[in-house]
Amino acid sequence: MSSNIKILLIYTGGTIGMQKDFETGALKAFNFSKLLQRVPELKLLDCAIETISFENPIDSSNISPESWVAIAEVIEQNYADFDGFVVLHGSDTMSYSASALSFMLENLGKPVIFTGSQLPIGDLRTDAKENLITAIQIASLQENGKPLVSEVGLYFEYKLYRGNRTTKISAEHFNAFTSPNYPFLIESGVHLKVNSDLLLPLPQNKVLKIHKSFDNNVMIIKMFPGINQKILETLMAVPGLKGVVLETFGSGNAPTENWFVQLLKNAIEAGIHIVNVTQCSGGSVDMGKYETSSQLKQIGVISGKDCTTEAAITKLMFLLGQPISNENFKNQFEKSIRGEMG
Ligand code: ASP
Repeated sequence: MSSNIKILLIYTGGTIGMQKDFETGALKAFNFSKLLQRVPELKLLDCAIETISFENPIDSSNISPESWVAIAEVIEQNYADFDGFVVLHGSDTMSYSASALSFMLENLGKPVIFTGSQLPIGDLRTDAKENLITAIQIASLQENGKPLVSEVGLYFEYKLYRGNRTTKISAEHFNAFTSPNYPFLIESGVHLKVNSDLLLPLPQNKVLKIHKSFDNNVMIIKMFPGINQKILETLMAVPGLKGVVLETFGSGNAPTENWFVQLLKNAIEAGIHIVNVTQCSGGSVDMGKYETSSQLKQIGVISGKDCTTEAAITKLMFLLGQPISNENFKNQFEKSIRGEMG
């Protein structure tokens, strides 16, 4: 091995770190310290790999803000000693975690690459090996002695995406993620094709700052024709509610019925932040384009612009955990802080 590049692999759980017990057919977590034995190809990479695993690896359906803090603390404690980090995570909620980590890690100057797989690493047709190997390779890319990627990315099936731009689109295909409103950052083919102009710039002389506070007094409401007034009123009246991500139609449209607009208006006046994102799988909210969104703009609904729901809800929890006044909240939310919105 010629380079001195060191990569830390952080295993949180999920299919990628499992193997099939060929006698019982059940999936079980394998001993991560034996990773190099199971994936001997890793020895061919021009970097040193160390592994660390959650004491009790979890299916990503059980991921919580506490897990995000645990991942961030591993990065914090090892930041000076490693050139890059690869987070192995179940794919189901990977986009939420990648978004959350992107907000937590301010002035990130090293790559943090999330990856996982649809099939366990021991499976004959597994996608785990390619995802793992290329994610590590990307985390070790350097240019003039500096990391090429200095943001939270998500690598899956030949593409590196900005983590907070991704969403899981398939429970079946190896091509399980997409980034509807931002192009991929790197594509793996015969060569690694890097779209350098799309990467976040390396922070200059700035120290990594880790924010660990989230407020989960929030909910997501997906609009549908026929949404029930009583049910919505009950939800909005839940004590302690501080924020709502409203998945609206098209470019941010919602019913113009008086009860609906008045309900949101009262909530906003009571200090509840309402973020408008589209339930379309691509495109942006543009409040005021149609009459059906003008009233939302007037009453002070926050534009989630072209954010994914995953980025919007984690950003909401993140900003609610920061000391931001109610008056400033809308302004802060509508600014892109880690490249999550256009
Ligand atoms: N249910 C698994 C998880 O998200 C699926 C996967 O690992 O991809 O943890």
